[in-house]
Parts: sequence; structure tokens; C-alpha cells
Amino acid sequence: MEQSYATSGAVSLDATDVPTYEHWIDGVESPGTITERIPSTSPVDGRVVAFIARGAGADIARAVRSGTIAQPAWAALPPVERSRALAAVAEGVRAESARLIELEIAETGKLHSLAVAEVEMAADYFEFYAGALRAARSDVLDLGPTQHVFTRREPFGVVGLITPWNAPITQGARGIAPALAVGNAVVVKPSEFTSVTTLELARIAIEAGVPAGVLNIVTGFGGEAGSALVENPGVAKVGFTGSVNTGRIVAKAAAERLIPVTLELGGKSPHIIFADADLTQAIPVAARAFTANGGQVCSAGTRLLVERSVHDRVVAGVVDIVSSFQPGEQLAPIITPDQYRKVNEYFDVARSEGVTIATGGAPVADDEVNRYIWPTVLTGVTNDMRIAQEEIFGPVVSVIPFDTEEEAVAIANDTLFGLVAGLWTSDVSRALRVSALLEAGQVFVNDWTGNVEAPFGGYKESGYGREKGIEALNDYSRQKSVLLRLR
Ligand code: ADP
Repeated sequence: MEQSYATSGAVSLDATDVPTYEHWIDGVESPGTITERIPSTSPVDGRVVAFIARGAGADIARAVRSGTIAQPAWAALPPVERSRALAAVAEGVRAESARLIELEIAETGKLHSLAVAEVEMAADYFEFYAGALRAARSDVLDLGPTQHVFTRREPFGVVGLITPWNAPITQGARGIAPALAVGNAVVVKPSEFTSVTTLELARIAIEAGVPAGVLNIVTGFGGEAGSALVENPGVAKVGFTGSVNTGRIVAKAAAERLIPVTLELGGKSPHIIFADADLTQAIPVAARAFTANGGQVCSAGTRLLVERSVHDRVVAGVVDIVSSFQPGEQLAPIITPDQYRKVNEYFDVARSEGVTIATGGAPVADDEVNRYIWPTVLTGVTNDMRIAQEEIFGPVVSVIPFDTEEEAVAIANDTLFGLVAGLWTSDVSRALRVSALLEAGQVFVNDWTGNVEAPFGGYKESGYGREKGIEALNDYSRQKSVLLRLR
């Protein structure tokens, strides 16, 4: 099929050759039962960059069966052998990083610098869990001379992972690596908008020595392939990253089958700047925290709480930085037309709520193909407003002044969400006191960043379960205690 491609350099695929991807089942590219393809388009200019398979329940069933057959032998390998396979995946990702970066940019439109960081982080997940697996140990309980008790961590069997579009390869790796490390097989249903790098990751894993069937990918729509994955009786655990609404649907389906689910959902994260902070550091980070990836990050810092005495200085500093952002340079596009419309609608909400638009408040071009939105700073916001309570998932920050530490904590916690929070202060006691009071699964002090080592996950409607770190090994395994009577 003939297609034309971006000349922006974002896509360097042959103009006449749009790649078609099949599912990845049992170690090979595998056509599904439905012949219809889903076009994957570039958010930069709307051009088709790949066709992916539209998976159905039968394809999910085949992938789960393949995982069920392959899993026992994978789990029975000495950990050092699984570890070596995972380390080889990390190497494979790094060896192909240029291609993966290009493919990730083609589907997501993200900036090159962020794509580089995310592909590296994907490799880092495999490297981390390759090591963590070899250092993992269990407990022995001292119950006296007649009883010996120890614990074991065992895999679930087949784990289903459902991932979103905002950071496809890194969010895929975040679940796949720990789930494989502890001996599960995994079936991934990536977002229908951004499936390509997850499919490439499966190929890299096979080439790195992960046995056929241990990692399967079925692409397609959420309400079709995604729901079939959660409902498949062979799936014993689900990891889901996405919106709160879909998270609720997934959690209900999992509850019906009484299987555990890890949910990483939305956020409306507070970013608190106290007057004693180093503002020269805090201001640029506050600007980045809500604009990175066009604001399409669950852990974006979208409520900027500023102590009143430095409020105007912080607003002026943030506005100064973000008002110079240009599309494709510092600014990423909005992934889909639906999402683009939604973000723009919030500008009407902001106006009707009577706030001041200090900068932005409009799309770059009134055009659903060029879906860039100017970074937007809203002031005069109160925390009860919709723009302060609802996740917008665009480059929009609500600035809210406060007078006391207690008030800052109260505003920060007055939200349904609780994924991350941040605070800036030069007072260590305050940093520790406030970080203990914030209702969020991860708190940044004088920083706003992430890594693979620290456990990550939500409080409240931001979800439950923990990704990353050693905790993900626990989340993707189940614990058994063994009780021996000694004579
Ligand atoms: P986002 O707004 O980030 O796209 P979604 O929650 O809609 O969030 O999508 C996240 C992932 O969940 C995607 O892979 C999507 O296909 C999948 N999904 C959507 N609806 C369902 C569903 N009913 N059951 C299972 N997965 C779903």
C-alpha cells in the first residue's frame, strides 16, 4: 500500500513500504484470526507509519495457551539462566536503540531526547531485574527447635499486561522484566496507538534467548483484545497501566475471576514550592514537570502549589520558560484527535471557572492533524475547580497559592489521586515532615524524576500494587510459606 511519510526526519521508513506487524505468539510473528489491520498514525502529521493486527479473543487464547505451555520450563530454569536471558534482552535493546528510538518517535511523536531516555530505561529494567533476580532471597522464621518455616516466591503462571500509549516501550519493559524474572510467562496487549516497539521488544527477547511462548504480544483494541486478556481463564495476574475509567473496568473483570491486578492509573500531582526553596532550580523543573511529553505523563506535576511570597516570581519564571517552547523542539504533540479535543475543551472550562491564563490556553494551529498545544499556565486557581481536580493529560498547570505548610499539605492531599507529589525546600526537617504527610506513592524532594529502583505506584484512585524496584518482583509473584515439623 502506498503511503507518504513525514519529511521531518521523525520517520525514515521507505515511503512505499508501510510495515505490517502481526501478533507475536509462540516465538514468531503470527497472523491473527481477523485480517483487518489497525493503522498506526504519527501524531506529528497524521501519516500512517505501520499497520498492526486487530487481535480477537481467539488470538488472546492462543497466546495464553502458548504461555501456559512454555511457562513451567522457564520457571524451572535456575535463576541465573533466566537472569542471563534478561541481561541479553537489555543488550539487545541497547544494540537496536537507534531503530527503537525512531519507531517510538514515529508512533508517539515524542521528542528525541525523551525517546532516547525511555529506550535506555527499557534496557535498564531488564538489566536491573537480571541482577535483582540473582540477589533475591526468602525468609526463614525462627520458631524453635521443632519447627522450621521458610518462604518462597513463586510465579503466577501467565501474566497479562495492558499498556498505554504515552511511554510504550518503557512501560512494557517495566512489567515484562520483573514478571519474566520470577518465572512467569507474559502476554502483552499494548495500546492500539503505539504497538510497534513492544512487538520489536518481543523479537529482541527471542533473539536474546527468551524461549518461545514465554513472551507473547497480541495487538488490538482495548474493548476486544484487552478485555479478552483479562477475562481469559489462563491469565492468573494482570498488570494494567492506563486511565482510571478503564482501570475500574479491568479491576471489576479481575475481581469477577478473583485474580490480583496491579493498577497504575492517573494523577493530578501536587508540586509544592516553599519560599525557602532554591528557586533557580525549582522553576525550570516545575516547567518541565507539566510539559514533558506534552503533559501526557501520569506523574506530571500539574498542580503547582506556591507559597504566596514567591508566587509571582515562580509564575513569571515558569511562564518565561514555557512560552519559548516550540513544536517538535521542546513541545510534543497530543497523541490522538480525541485527546487533543479533550485538552482544548479544558480551556473553555478554565475560562468558565474565571481563572487567568498566564500563557497558552490555545492550540498551536487549529488543526486536528498538527496536534500541538501551547504550554498553559493557569493562575488564580482554587483547588475545588475542575481544572485543579481532573486529569487533563496535556501541557497545562494550575497554580495555587498557599500561606502555611499545613495549608500546602491540605491542598496537596485534596484530590482523588495520589500517584506522585513533589516539594521544594531548603529545610530538611520540613522535607521529611511534609513527605510523610503527602498522600502519594512517590514523593520527590528538590527534584522531579524517576528511576527503576524506587517502588512506584498509587495511593487512592491512582491505583494499587507497586511497579519498579524489588517490589515488582513481589508484585508479580506469590508467596508461599513452608512449615516443617522437626524431630
Ligand atoms: P489511555 O487514555 O491512556 O489510552 P486507556 O485506559 O483507554 O487509557 O488505555 C490503556 C490501555 O487499556 C490500552 O492498551 C487500551 O487498549 C486498553 N483498554 C482500553 N479499554 C479496555 C478494556 N475495556 N479492557 C481492557 N483493556 C482496555
